[in-house]
Amino acid sequence: MKFLLPALLVATLATTAVSAEKTKPNPMVEKLLKKMSLDEKIGQMTQLDLMTVTVKNSSPIQLDEAKLREAVVKHGVGSFINNGLGRALSIAEWTYVLKTIQDMIRAETPNQIPLLYGIDSIHGATFVLDATLFPQQIAMAATRNPELMRRSAEISAAETRSAGLRWTFAPVLDVGRHPVWARFPETFGEDPHLASVFGVAAVRGFEGNDLGAPTSVAACLKHYIGYSFPVTGKDRSPALIPDEHLREYFLPPFRAAVQAGAKTVMVNSGEVNGVPVHGSKYLLTEVLRGEFGFKGVIVSDWEDVIRLHTWHKTADSPAEAVRQAVDAGLDMSMVPLDYSFFKLLKQLVQEGKVSEKRINESVRRILQLKADVGLFKNPYVEPETAGQFGKSEYKQVALAAAEEAITLLKNDGAILPLAKSVKILVAGPAAQSISALHGCWSFTWQGLDEKVYPKGSLTIADAMKQKLGDGNVPVHQGVDFTGKDVDADAAVAAAASADTIILCLGEDAYAETPGDINDFNLPAGQQEFAKRLYATGKPVVIVLVEGRGRVISEIEPGAQGIVMAYWPGAGGAQAIANVLFGDTNPSGKLPFTYARHANNLLTYDRKYTSAAAEISAPGDTKINPAKPQWEFGHGLSYTTFAVKNLKLSAPILKGKKNITVTVDVTNTGKRAGKEVVELYTSDLYASLTPPGKRLRAFTKLELQPGETKPVNFELSAADLAFVNGASKRVTEPGEFEVLVSGLQAKFRYEK
Ligand code: BGC
Repeated sequence: MKFLLPALLVATLATTAVSAEKTKPNPMVEKLLKKMSLDEKIGQMTQLDLMTVTVKNSSPIQLDEAKLREAVVKHGVGSFINNGLGRALSIAEWTYVLKTIQDMIRAETPNQIPLLYGIDSIHGATFVLDATLFPQQIAMAATRNPELMRRSAEISAAETRSAGLRWTFAPVLDVGRHPVWARFPETFGEDPHLASVFGVAAVRGFEGNDLGAPTSVAACLKHYIGYSFPVTGKDRSPALIPDEHLREYFLPPFRAAVQAGAKTVMVNSGEVNGVPVHGSKYLLTEVLRGEFGFKGVIVSDWEDVIRLHTWHKTADSPAEAVRQAVDAGLDMSMVPLDYSFFKLLKQLVQEGKVSEKRINESVRRILQLKADVGLFKNPYVEPETAGQFGKSEYKQVALAAAEEAITLLKNDGAILPLAKSVKILVAGPAAQSISALHGCWSFTWQGLDEKVYPKGSLTIADAMKQKLGDGNVPVHQGVDFTGKDVDADAAVAAAASADTIILCLGEDAYAETPGDINDFNLPAGQQEFAKRLYATGKPVVIVLVEGRGRVISEIEPGAQGIVMAYWPGAGGAQAIANVLFGDTNPSGKLPFTYARHANNLLTYDRKYTSAAAEISAPGDTKINPAKPQWEFGHGLSYTTFAVKNLKLSAPILKGKKNITVTVDVTNTGKRAGKEVVELYTSDLYASLTPPGKRLRAFTKLELQPGETKPVNFELSAADLAFVNGASKRVTEPGEFEVLVSGLQAKFRYEK
């Protein structure tokens, strides 16, 4: 059982108390620490954006020597990031950047501590030109194939390190439980178990077995914690999350990934329950370090220390903001545009408001991280990385990931797969968009600049032409992503000569606050365009290229087929064409509950009374079963599967023993296909209202036509646990149900 192991491992880790074992001091780090001045130490805790030391608009990039000296020599700045520069650099540019910085540090600073560069390699090496970009995390979760996640993170690490960069600000472990949130596409979806399994796979891929190897980068779990559940759905706006809810739904992926060895954590820019997380000693020190045993570096997010004063108003001065963050447990401040953090922290130490002992704790962690990633051995682009960038095999992995992510939501009358002889019209705003296939963090922050994508990047229309021949694929955008008319009349006219219309709708790329929306419905103009195409009487297959499940309930009935492509990355166009024409049998499953109404946002693990949210008419007081557009886990195939013979090894789960749950899965159709089997449990009665069901394990298998394979899942008491009203993880004795692919069986748990 290939994928059972990681799933169970996570389940076990997520429930085991962490022993507070002591890390042995590293003699090299201790020796260095003794020699360092206070300025040098505070410099190590300071992270600046590279644009503070570059010549403005230089291309190829050029560093300003005087500004660089001010940063790394005068202030001893220990880390840079690349964000504000706004574009990806070539490997030659990165080589120059790192050489210039590290050379100056070697020549002009007393202790020659190499600089650690952090970068947002979010779904591939975002800021390295020509890097391989994989599907966004939300799509990776749809593959239900953690091995693909591990492998794509491994490639992303190798390409990042080829540019001399050794620290990625990924994975995002915010659990996507607010589907409107602009950073939803960066998450692994709404389920904590799914996010834990994929988070662990990503960390293993990034960090490998040896962080010092020239193929590894340090991972950064972000954004700790509660970022993804803002009340309003808007980026960086307040979250209200009761402690037990935080522990039940949001903390488990962080805990699992810490246990998997992740070296760093980035803090949520927002507030939870009125406390900005950057100032929360409870969350950063008591929970993350104390309970989870995290020993690595905690870095702030962009400008978030000073924002304790300027935004959150819990600090009545900039100095107090710095004091609060350091006292809460922060090690490094992503300042990132000035020396305010350096000056204020120095002043606080001199005034005795922050002890040098406290500074030493953070610097020790930062130096250890630098040692772990091999910077003291070689701070430059390592010669061993030669030849590991841009391998053709990487493209195959990106394609495979996109193919396994794509989720067939609807296929009435088996309209898909299309015969290659069919006359098609390709329409819609996503048909000729490269940026929408990639989404955020794609060679630029917003991903919108199509000039910087690798030559040969394909659009959906291009990939269709490769299948059917150039002259056989008429293309009309119709409307743009906002719904504004481009050539809608021409598109409708062209439909007359087509057998089938492939309508590519959705969202163009966005990242963070620019992705905030006031209306979760797909823009009206896109929906109107769909209706005009329906009116031609030609069958329509919708391809959704989007980071979030924008509401399409008005146009869903008119489409015969609907394919969810998410933001599928560099292999996306080809993967979509392969699925549409049946060269690939789709196997993706929704990692979130696709909403039917913008004002009825549900998760699959809803409570019994959440059903009342489904109102059939004004004044309706009945409890109606909630009907999302599509449930979490939904996804069709071109073959059919039957799951049978659900058996439990015992009717009672007792104490520390496990019970084994088995089913047989058969491919009952005519094509080979991959099927995901998910195991849910339901706690029938509990001291806090139990959710209808919770995902506990999943696996994915490939079956030839007529083939049957058994699937075994092991369930322990820990898998049935929940966080009770006293914030304690408990398994309460009583009756449970296990649910697998429409089958169910009851069992009891006894202590
Ligand atoms: C984002 C982080 C990112 C950081 C550095 C921030 O605005 O919230 O996710 O890692 O910038 O680029």
